[in-house]
Amino acid sequence: MNAATFLRDVFGFDAFRPGQEEIVDAVTGGKNTLAIMPTGGGKSLCFQLPALVRDGVTVVISPLIALMRDQVRGLRESGVAAGALTSGNTQEETDAVWDALTDGTLKLLYMAPERLAAGGITQMLHRANVSLIAVDEAHCVSQWGHDFRPDYLRIGELRTALDVPLAAFTATADAETQQEIVQKLFGGTQPATFLRGFDRPNIHLAFAVKDGPRNQILNFAAARKGQSGIVYCGTRAKTETLAKALAEAGHPTCHYHGGMEAEDRRAVETRFQQEDGLIVCATIAFGMGIDKPDIRWVAHADLPKSIEAYYQEIGRAGRDGDPAETLTLFGPDDIRYRRQQIDEGLAPPERRAADHGRLNALLGLAEALHCRRQTLLGYFGEEAQPCGHCDLCDKPAEVFDGTTPVRMALSAALRADEWFGAGHLIDILLGNMTDKIRQRGHDSLPTFGVGKDYDKRQWQAIFRQMMGHDLLRPDRERHGALRMTEHARPILRGEATIELRRDTIRTAKTGPKVRMLVSEDDAPLLSALKAKRRYLAEQANAPAYIIFNDRTLIEMAERKPRNLDEMAQIGGVGAKKLESYGKDFLQVIAGAVEDMHPARRKLAGRDAGTTYDRLLAAQAELTRGPNGTDKPMSCSAGMLSKVAQLHQPDRDMLTRMIGEKYAERFGDAFLEVLEAG
Ligand code: ADP
Ligand code: ZN
Repeated sequence: MNAATFLRDVFGFDAFRPGQEEIVDAVTGGKNTLAIMPTGGGKSLCFQLPALVRDGVTVVISPLIALMRDQVRGLRESGVAAGALTSGNTQEETDAVWDALTDGTLKLLYMAPERLAAGGITQMLHRANVSLIAVDEAHCVSQWGHDFRPDYLRIGELRTALDVPLAAFTATADAETQQEIVQKLFGGTQPATFLRGFDRPNIHLAFAVKDGPRNQILNFAAARKGQSGIVYCGTRAKTETLAKALAEAGHPTCHYHGGMEAEDRRAVETRFQQEDGLIVCATIAFGMGIDKPDIRWVAHADLPKSIEAYYQEIGRAGRDGDPAETLTLFGPDDIRYRRQQIDEGLAPPERRAADHGRLNALLGLAEALHCRRQTLLGYFGEEAQPCGHCDLCDKPAEVFDGTTPVRMALSAALRADEWFGAGHLIDILLGNMTDKIRQRGHDSLPTFGVGKDYDKRQWQAIFRQMMGHDLLRPDRERHGALRMTEHARPILRGEATIELRRDTIRTAKTGPKVRMLVSEDDAPLLSALKAKRRYLAEQANAPAYIIFNDRTLIEMAERKPRNLDEMAQIGGVGAKKLESYGKDFLQVIAGAVEDMHPARRKLAGRDAGTTYDRLLAAQAELTRGPNGTDKPMSCSAGMLSKVAQLHQPDRDMLTRMIGEKYAERFGDAFLEVLEAG
């Protein structure tokens, strides 16, 4: 069988995702490969399919135990012989894996890198007929990176010893890391390399200036009630307070940070993985281990530390390819905090300069005037058209020529000897006679009171953007006083101009509109399908998406398969899952149909069907008359069906159809429904 057949029969997908096929071909063909693809791009299939096509066993090395266990479980659900050797195993599990290896029945063996340190492992793998090594999260081999795993350095030796092809996968963008991977995993010989674009088109991008940040987060979550999400917070304390606020607002919420006991952290990870619609407020400690494909949103309560960190964190949303949303909040305090963090870090100076650069890139994105995705992808070296799927495409920024106020601000900073923060500089510009101004004699500066065209709030926005454009930088040695940078010189000298955003003051907030994954008509069926999935997942003690992912359930809710044949056509329903779960879900779907009156069922899928439902609802309101005190009355299903199909309804026709008595009680309400339809 070839890869495409396995793709359909085992995994139930009818097409490759962009870029997958080339990688699968190269890996299957026994080439050394390095694939850089965004999170959610579907890299697992890029080694799972070749593993099925090729003879022998594929060893998969991954640093994430939870992820390995999930993948193994998922593969077994799909009927693939897979096993894992990790520290979390029971002795029985380990024995079973070794037995399968010895019998030659195993196709995929997942292994934690620590295992490579054990003596004799190479010989054992050699005897087990290992024919391919796949390395997940290959950037863990990079000594510079945050995810460095010393045991990853052993993989290169393993490759040489076994003399088999190696396929390495990572979502990390930068060239430095890629070079290190080539050095350490491939002995310096460039493998077949695939760079799959960094765009994640299903993720909506948005930034907002902090303005009552707690409410901003609460509103964002309220509009996505019932959906799984992560709120990244800058501090441990905030994870706890925000989680409490969200829980009080009625969302199931946990908090997570590195200061918690390992056991408690694991409990949150497991709950998040398995439960539908849980929110986790977390520090970035909540990251690497999460492999939940159906995270529907990610919010940043505080600005991330760099553009790479931002990309990685929002990238945890929507790995299943379904729509996902993000919101990143930021303010001047965030900028100061992040700068300070870099300055106080232990990294060598050139590294610190690079870190400021990465922060600048993120601030540029935060203060962007045009499409965010264009800006983001531009940073990764990709050209793109305006995306139509970010807040700035939705609603263009209002901009103004900021050259004059920026020059005023720079001049104020310089004349005050670059010893002050934004608050004091704004007082100078506005001509406020504060004690500090008086003490320092700043009322005699030529810039004193020149900025009265703008109010305090506007000046704050200007200073924030100047920090965002890295024209002014807080100086650690001067307790955060703002100093001018080289970038500002051309503007000060009148050689360059600058456009700034006008901060849009949010007008009266209407209640958040809850976004739906399917049309209103299909929503009840979708929740019934989800309930069934939850039940089956609990039975199997597995995360819900291992049974079926959201996309698959949505497709079921929309297409309503009536038999196993039609069920097999749904994306994500492979042969094994069809056998295990097909009937269960068909029953749920049929149940939803069964509940319908036959007269209504005949109208299914037609406009008249919806009209029928509305008539029924209108009738229910009036069953006991307008005051709820009359004798109960209702039209037969057949009669409602006829009314629903009336072409040019009027009072007389309606009365003829249902009779005087019924028309008296229901006539007005029915006509209203018919006219609205
Ligand atoms: P990552 O690249 O982050 O490891 P995964 O391999 O976990 O991504 O895949 C992300 C999601 O995409 C999974 O839910 C997977 O089932 C789904 N997926 C992968 N390939 C396809 C495909 N060809 N068609 C449909 N869904 C796919
Ligand atoms: Zn856009």
